[in-house]
Amino acid sequence: MANLFGYFSNDIGIDLGTANTLVYVKDKGIVLREPSVVALDTTTRKVRAVGDEAKRMLGRTPGNITAIRPMKDGVIADFDVTEAMLRYFIQKASQSFRAPPRVVIAIPSGITAVEKRAVMDSATHAGARKVITIPEPMAAAIGVGLPIDEPAANMIVDIGGGTTEIAIISLNGIVFSKSIRVAGDELDAAIINYMKRAYNLLIGERTAEEIKMRIGSAYTLDEELSMEVKGRDSVAGLPKTIHITSQEVREALADTIAAIVDAVRTTLERCPPELSADLVDRGFVMAGGGSLIRGIDRLLSDKTGLPVTVADDPLSAVANGTGAVLNDLSWLMQNA
Ligand code: ADP
Ligand code: MG
Repeated sequence: MANLFGYFSNDIGIDLGTANTLVYVKDKGIVLREPSVVALDTTTRKVRAVGDEAKRMLGRTPGNITAIRPMKDGVIADFDVTEAMLRYFIQKASQSFRAPPRVVIAIPSGITAVEKRAVMDSATHAGARKVITIPEPMAAAIGVGLPIDEPAANMIVDIGGGTTEIAIISLNGIVFSKSIRVAGDELDAAIINYMKRAYNLLIGERTAEEIKMRIGSAYTLDEELSMEVKGRDSVAGLPKTIHITSQEVREALADTIAAIVDAVRTTLERCPPELSADLVDRGFVMAGGGSLIRGIDRLLSDKTGLPVTVADDPLSAVANGTGAVLNDLSWLMQNA
């Protein structure tokens, strides 16, 4: 038997990501995982679809519909659209609730105070009884199980869609963090450019992402891979198929990956010496979908000299972190 208020209320945690939004319901786990995409009617600005359905429309919309990613760069490009998206996700996840939920939202660390306020207001409009925000790297660190309450350096590198967030946390606080707008989307763009340059082949974002996931890598593979790619010949204008190898894709991704490596190194250079000393043994943990690029952990380890591990379920780290926090909201009220 729960207490008077706790019995009917269900609290939820949200990872409002630049590429994917996840919702965690207390005592249930992750119940929703959908792309952070909204399809709008271009003339009326009415929302036509959100999440999975909207993502399927990306790059395939007729003139009267446009599919947008309101959080694309880790900042809110369009407040109204972000609110519509949050409302959809909160309502979908809390359908069976008998009372409005309390909501913990992990937001990108690069977000401004105004944007943070807007996210909180949106969640309130969407039916939240109380809204608490937590910086995304903090949620990620909790989600992967780092002992962030210890007086020691805990470092997390989260490569998402629009942003890479790097943070060093000690005693429940962020000592230093850096957010750059170089992550999965830029890797997709690099593949699109490469295909155009090397093969005169025009491909869309979704195809580029598929190439990245299937054969993309940051480090020499034991067994190199290859695949067929279909697109449109930019000269002849007709559909065309070509064959590409993982070596080529690695070359296409190299500059973008180097920018991520650089950001990690810069963060380490800013780290207070005592915490640097901790990192020599503790290393850092990677989260976010971008950490699944083959060999990126090995490359980062080579370039920093630190041990690097990829979280068990990197795409769920932030949502799991918000979930852990739901069990201890008093912790968050003190530390957020
Ligand atoms: P965000 O938190 O910004 O919403 P996610 O952590 O959900 O981002 O990661 C999304 C990014 O991860 C996308 O750019 C996607 O292409 C990339 N991604 C997902 N799975 C893989 C994979 N297996 N290999 C490479 N990249 C991946
Ligand atoms: Mg994320």
